[in-house]
This record gives sequence, structure tokens and C-alpha cells, in this order.
Amino acid sequence: MQSNVLPTYNRAPLSFVSGEGCWLIDESGNRYLDAGAGIAVSALGHAYPKLVKALADQASRLWHTSNLYVIPNQEKLADLLVEHTFADTAFFTNSGTEAMEAAVKMARKYWHHLGHPERHEVIALNGSFHGRTLAMISAAGSEKLVSGFAPLMPGFKQIDPEDLLAAEAAVDGSTAAIMVEPIIGEGGIIPLSDSYMKGLRALCDEKGILLILDEIQCGMGRTGKLFAHELSGIEPDIMAIAKGIGGGFPLGACLAKSAAAVGMTAGTHGSTYGGNPLACAVGAAVLGIVADEEFLEGVRRRSGCLRQRLEAVAGSHPEIFAEVRGTGMMIGMVCKVPNMEVVDAGYRSRILTVPAGDNAVRILPPLNIGDEDVAEIARRIEKAAEDLEGRRH
Ligand code: PLP
Repeated sequence: MQSNVLPTYNRAPLSFVSGEGCWLIDESGNRYLDAGAGIAVSALGHAYPKLVKALADQASRLWHTSNLYVIPNQEKLADLLVEHTFADTAFFTNSGTEAMEAAVKMARKYWHHLGHPERHEVIALNGSFHGRTLAMISAAGSEKLVSGFAPLMPGFKQIDPEDLLAAEAAVDGSTAAIMVEPIIGEGGIIPLSDSYMKGLRALCDEKGILLILDEIQCGMGRTGKLFAHELSGIEPDIMAIAKGIGGGFPLGACLAKSAAAVGMTAGTHGSTYGGNPLACAVGAAVLGIVADEEFLEGVRRRSGCLRQRLEAVAGSHPEIFAEVRGTGMMIGMVCKVPNMEVVDAGYRSRILTVPAGDNAVRILPPLNIGDEDVAEIARRIEKAAEDLEGRRH
């Protein structure tokens, strides 16, 4: 089919017209089990009634006013985020990469405010992903992201994950912050160890620099905790969130402790649409559900069950799968065959999964998936593995 869309995506020949819970339905009425949730976005599945109502109610009243005025839904969402997290303040965006941009601008401005503008460099991890703006591809630095886009933004350097000595050695008089994803998502679902996370926090405290977390993919209940850093018992100074907080409506936020946000005074940053009434109505509805401890307990229980079932599938198909890893509903199945073959076989078995780095396939279902659909994910992945084995022999 001829498409007039810029071909920056290798799209599967699938297209959906409606969704219900964990299921997507194509034009012919075929039902696909959505184990990718739009890459960890549809936290409560498709057409979740409370979210539909929150959006429709707001849409029938007022869509847009501008950040020139107080936006009640934005205030409400900021209050909820402050109540449930380490943060004292929130800046709202339309996407994850914009939330990361705000985080880095905040870190630079912090040092500028303290009279140390020379502290402008941010240390990031090799294999990380923070979005597609020039600054965020420069931060991640991988060839795949930056090729052809030089000159890159200065002020970033990369170190290998899990190497605290490298982190220590990388900090110098120009360092503003260290910035990591607690679970590396696009890079292949690689959870950073608790000891590494604690070590980074201690290093930042010792050197007086800021710790920025990117919880765009791993946050908002995906690990069974509201935010992944809670698992390692540390707090960031600044954190970017997006994806799940909007449940499918574009919304992101940069959260911060007030001490880290001191430089971000009136006029220093802005966004036309960031924190608009529609997005914040949905965000407050999502957070109201996901932040509930009973809901999170359900995520932990069902994700444990999903993990067990997927490990059993991987165990009985050792030619296809090497390893299952991840936390909560953020699971990576590392493949022995090219991961796209597994994703494609999934399409034939009518299950949607998402490829990632390190030859992994991501399983990121809606957090409120039911027990029956958990079992169905494992059955369909098994079917995909059998299909692939059949083709390979
Ligand atoms: N950071 C992480 C960890 C992500 O997974 C993503 C998106 O996949 C981003 C940043 C960029 O978010 P967005 O595509 O909303 O700009």
C-alpha cells in the first residue's frame, strides 16, 4: 500500500479500529491480544470506562486554555503526583522525551542558579533510550540513534551500566547530574541492580550532583510499585514520567524535589499543550486507580503468574528463548533466533509483542489484565514458538 507518511517506522501490516481491555480488533473483526500496550502506554487497557468518561466529560466542557491561566485539572494532577511520590513539584509535557528535556534543563539551571554554570554535563548509560530529540539522542549516544544527525548536543557522556567505579571516574567539575532508566527498556528490559541504584544515589550525594531517573517506561505501576526506584529504596532528585500516566492520551511530566527545581522560575520553560485540561483529566483518573495499593498488589500477583508461565514457555522452547527477565509487567524474553521472527510469529498467533535491544521481545501488557488473559499470553507465545520451530525444521 502506498503511504504518504514519512517512512521512519518499519510498520507491521496490521491496523486496528477498536480496542477492549487487553484486546485490539482489526477491520475484519480479528481480535489480537495486546501484550505490548502500545509500548507500555495503555496502562489500563483500551476503552477503560473511567478513562473514557474522564476524557469525554472534559472534552464536552473545555479543551484548551493555555498555561497563561491556572488549569484546575493540572493542579489536581500535580497534587496527586506530589502526594504519591518523592516530588514537590511537577512540569507537564506531551511526551516522554519532552519530560526528559525538562529534566536536563532543570539540572543545568540548578547549577547555574547556584553559581556554577560550568556544571552542565549529564552522565548517561550506554544502551539507554531517552527519546528522539537532538539532546536525548545525544544523551543516549548510540550509533543507531545518532547516525546522520551530527553535530550532536554537547554536555553528555556515557558510561556502562552496573559499573560504579566507571560512574565515580566519570564525575568531574563539569558534572551536573547522572541520568538512568531504573529498568533499561528499549535497550532490552535490563533492570539495574539495587546495589547499583543505591551506589549511584550515594555517589550523587557524596559529590553533590543530581540523580535524574527516566521512569517513562518502567514507572506508573508497571513494576508492581508505583515507581521502579521504590524497589531499590532510593529517591531521585528529578524524574521523568510519560506513557502510562496518560493511559494512551499524550501526557508526560518532569517531577522534582523543590531543591532541584530552584532555578525553574517564571519564563524559564514552557509548553503550549503541556498539562492541558484533556490530558490532565485522564492523567488524574489513571493515577487515582494505579496509585491504589490494592491495585498494585494485583499487578504484583498477576505479573508473578505471567512470569512463571513465560518461564515455562521459554524452558520448553530452548531453541527459541535464552532467558526471561524483567520486573512486574515489564518482561523481556531474550531470544536465540532474531527477535523479529518471534514478534512476527506472534502476529500470526494474534498476539502483539514489542521488539527491544539485546535481541529481546518485550511483554508489557495492560496492568489490569485479567488472569484469563495472562494465561492466554503464555498460550499464544507458546503457539508462536511452535510455529517458528515448525518453520525452522
Ligand atoms: N524514555 C524512555 C525510557 C522511553 O521508553 C521512551 C519511549 O519509548 C522515551 C523516553 C521517549 O518517550 P516519547 O516517545 O513519549 O517521547
